Amino acid sequence: MSKETARALVVGGGVAGMQAALDIANQGFKVYLVERSPSIGGRMAMLDKTFPTLDCSACILTPKLSEIARHPNIRLMTCAEVGSVTGSAGNFRVKLRRKARFVRENLCSGCGACSAECPVEVANEFDQGLGFRKAIYTPFPQATPNVYTVDKENCIDCSRCVKVCERNAIDLEMKDSFVNLDVGTIIIATGFELFDVSRYPRLGYGQYPNVIHAMEFERLINAAGPTHGHLIRLSDGKKPKSIGFIQCVGARDVQKGVPYCSRVCCMYSIKNAVMALEHNPEAEVWVYYADIRAFGKGFEEFYEMAKSRFGVRFVRGRVAEVMEGKSSHDLVVKVEDTATSKLRLIEHDLVVISPGVIPSSGMDTMAKKIGIDQTNDGYIEISHTFFGPTITKIPGVFVCGCADGPKDIPDSVSAGSAAAMKATIILSSGGT
Ligand SMILES: Cc1cc2nc3c(=O)[nH]c(=O)nc-3n(C[C@H](O)[C@H](O)[C@H](O)COP(=O)(O)OP(=O)(O)OC[C@H]3O[C@@H](n4cnc5c(N)ncnc54)[C@H](O)[C@@H]3O)c2cc1C
Repeated sequence: MSKETARALVVGGGVAGMQAALDIANQGFKVYLVERSPSIGGRMAMLDKTFPTLDCSACILTPKLSEIARHPNIRLMTCAEVGSVTGSAGNFRVKLRRKARFVRENLCSGCGACSAECPVEVANEFDQGLGFRKAIYTPFPQATPNVYTVDKENCIDCSRCVKVCERNAIDLEMKDSFVNLDVGTIIIATGFELFDVSRYPRLGYGQYPNVIHAMEFERLINAAGPTHGHLIRLSDGKKPKSIGFIQCVGARDVQKGVPYCSRVCCMYSIKNAVMALEHNPEAEVWVYYADIRAFGKGFEEFYEMAKSRFGVRFVRGRVAEVMEGKSSHDLVVKVEDTATSKLRLIEHDLVVISPGVIPSSGMDTMAKKIGIDQTNDGYIEISHTFFGPTITKIPGVFVCGCADGPKDIPDSVSAGSAAAMKATIILSSGGT
């Protein structure tokens, strides 16, 4: 197979899929990078800072987004999902369904005139519903491709956007389309989702406005987020003076949640505890945990620094209940401190819950279409724990990032590169 005709398909445009696509493309092979949402970037695009270095997430991700957009060997296909897969290693035929975005990608310049004119405002899912976007929108300022999308469910067909678009890029009659791709190899990088923490009503999420989850906190402290980076309580817009972070909600819970550890929550909560103190050094910040799992490079040092330099307080114990004051929306956390065996009631203005990590929605359907096995927890099964961490049971199909289990960014990127290496072995040796 020549480098000109050998092609790879990467499904999922988070940081793992992006890395895999870039590594394959930089070896001279063509890559289709397929993402179901309007932009690549995945969850990393939503984060404020990243542990353990506290680098700005957008600052390290944006150059990668542009590299992908400009790469001559990468064809980016957003609003797209795998419809069916036939064939075998070296010769897969993949049918893709491309959802109509009602804006022609080749004509849209990303100027935003359409969005400014749109009269409809809806909750912005990128901001976890804490801010608003228009019915014609891009999910975030650095969205890639820089092309607007019409949310037809909320569009009122007023056509104001159509009239204002100087390039005639908007077509409100656009239909979904199907594309056939011939590829030698497939990499699955479909990432993860968060456990629905409202399934623990005793913790108050969904009932009390000042109980939020970790991704909502990430958006609240983000300068590009719904409050322009001002850390406030949702009930009254006041600066929280006391914040509690509750660990392992929906994770390591065989009864109500998932049995496994989500691997990233300890570290992102320590990061967010430090960030809360950076925003308001006068605040008191507490973390309620079962065990602290700080196993990565620099993680233990980061944990120690959170305690010694920033004064984050750690209480070992599972939270029994979060209660709300009758008139104030202030909160009280009830916890057994297992270090002292004492029941404690600690007051907070804001409580942040760390949800467990679960496989991305639609994983079952996609696994069936491709014919790959899943673990009991619903992730993609790998062929060998030690020597095949990115290899699935189907030759020519690889997996990386959180699609086979929770991972942090460095591990997701390493897995992306590892899967790319395996994929290029197939591409170099024959097939489509
Ligand atoms: C609150 C929070 C804070 C975090 N903070 C940090 C941190 O500070 N440092 C750190 O190292 N890690 C952090 N992480 C972990 C980090 O988010 C993950 O390591 C990283 O996002 C994994 O990348 P991924 O590409 O595997 O998955 P994702 O980021 O989930 O990307 C997967 C992509 O695939 C797309 N997709 C899904 N299904 C399909 C489909 N069927 N077809 C096409 N596309 C599909 C999705 O739309 C998405 O774009 C944090 C996680 C959370 C929840």
